[in-house]
Amino acid sequence: MLILEALRSSGIWAKTPRLTTPETAGGGVYALTRRAAAAFIFLAVFLPAAASRAQMATILWKGQPHSVTLAGADLNVAESARALGFEVATDATTGVATLTAGGHRVVIGAGTTQVPVDQRIVSISRPAHSVGGSLYAPPDFLEKVLFPLVGATGAYDAARKTWVLSEGTAAVNLDVAVVHVEPTTQIVIRQSAAARFVPTVTETGFQVSWPGIQIVPPFAERRYDDPLISVIRFAGNTASIEYREKGSTARAYPLASPDRLVIEIGRPAPALVLSPVAALEKAAPALTIVIDPGHGGAETGAVGPGGLQEKDVTLQIARRLAATLSKTLPCRVLLTRDSDTVLSLDDRTSMANRERADLFLSIHANSSRTPGARGSETYYLSLEASDKLSQEIASRENQAASALETSGAAAAPVRNPDLDFILWDLAQTAHLKESSELAEAAQDELNAVSGTGNRGIKQAPFRVLVGATMPAVLVETAFISNPEEEKKLASPVFQQSIADAVARAVGRFFERRKTGGPARTTPTPVSPQAPTAPPAVRTP
Ligand SMILES: [Zn+2]
Repeated sequence: MLILEALRSSGIWAKTPRLTTPETAGGGVYALTRRAAAAFIFLAVFLPAAASRAQMATILWKGQPHSVTLAGADLNVAESARALGFEVATDATTGVATLTAGGHRVVIGAGTTQVPVDQRIVSISRPAHSVGGSLYAPPDFLEKVLFPLVGATGAYDAARKTWVLSEGTAAVNLDVAVVHVEPTTQIVIRQSAAARFVPTVTETGFQVSWPGIQIVPPFAERRYDDPLISVIRFAGNTASIEYREKGSTARAYPLASPDRLVIEIGRPAPALVLSPVAALEKAAPALTIVIDPGHGGAETGAVGPGGLQEKDVTLQIARRLAATLSKTLPCRVLLTRDSDTVLSLDDRTSMANRERADLFLSIHANSSRTPGARGSETYYLSLEASDKLSQEIASRENQAASALETSGAAAAPVRNPDLDFILWDLAQTAHLKESSELAEAAQDELNAVSGTGNRGIKQAPFRVLVGATMPAVLVETAFISNPEEEKKLASPVFQQSIADAVARAVGRFFERRKTGGPARTTPTPVSPQAPTAPPAVRTP
């Protein structure tokens, strides 16, 4: 079903609460705050002890003192933001605040450390929380988010609880995404603005620094479960990447729109001697194919007019496809789920990546408001929908997603679609051609089965395909919304004919690759002639 995937793909927009009761800084309130600040400064200067009793901090910005209420070490978000010239709108239901200034937009709610800033996510040290109906955030919310957006730099005077800020050039905010696409690990550092960087090779890894620029890193240190790198650290205006193996290689290059720096880490030159056992093990498994039965558990997917649920059909077809593939190809077949369970879209692709799959096939049943809609469709991933209808569906679903927002949204983890797309950039570009070839073969075979006209191969931004580091397609087998096709989808004969068609397409795909078809972009050993491992079907 398209709807669900489109909803999921809407990412940040789905998680951005709608503002129902915007409230802006009133002149009266502002003047009052200013008077209070002036009074406070007097106290702060002459009676430092009074400051702590008053539970206030001061922001000195553009020559004006602004007082900000404290709750423990945390600062009142709205007061801090207004002091720096942000407009503040608070959702009365969720308490989520939207701060806007100079074209920037920050969304902050209680209970989460993930703060959407423009199109990025910035992590703060602890979650914002609500006291007496007002939102309070740790000091690094100001340092990492608010100050850089208005170009404020300065130091905190702890004794006086005062920030003395001066106007400088706005700092460059950084975001980091790491993805392993055999044989390299790609580190993408997204920059809020273009910035000159200097790469340096170190004893144990690789460093990048941004001379003369204040950078705002997304974290101080993060460990990675990656084959080539173990940790990335930020200190001052330098990022340090630690290799897993000494002698690994690195190259760095900038890319624009969006501004980002790509660091490609490669394995050391092959000096490894494989033991006979290891060599044998390496040659044994042939192809690995991951089949993903769409939806599951509480997430039923589309439901037909007769009550047939997409999640059941997709599992039945996936099991048949797994059995058929195991018989027809020397391969290991894995299912992302083999029972009626909920599985996140990311987990599905992660499993395929972890298992170093050669193919990822996501199985679905389609749904349409057009009563006569029939036939199969095969999709591969694209940033943009391939036709106007898909585009319309996507934008309609995005609107529906924000309308669906409820008060619990603020605490939900917020996805950053840009980061996903950067990952897609890297993980899928290498496989785009093969994905389209596989989609073509599948569509070809499915058209023969359904006997309907070619509904065609389509490209759409499906989240379940994002980040797959192998050729990946999504098959909408038939329209469960069409009573006639619903009946067919429930029948074992039709299910098997779909499985056979997809299996034939997979066979054709690998045959073509073997006979001088498109070159493999990954060096994962593929030897279809080698003795096959027993087919395994499992859930992660
Ligand atoms: Zn579906």
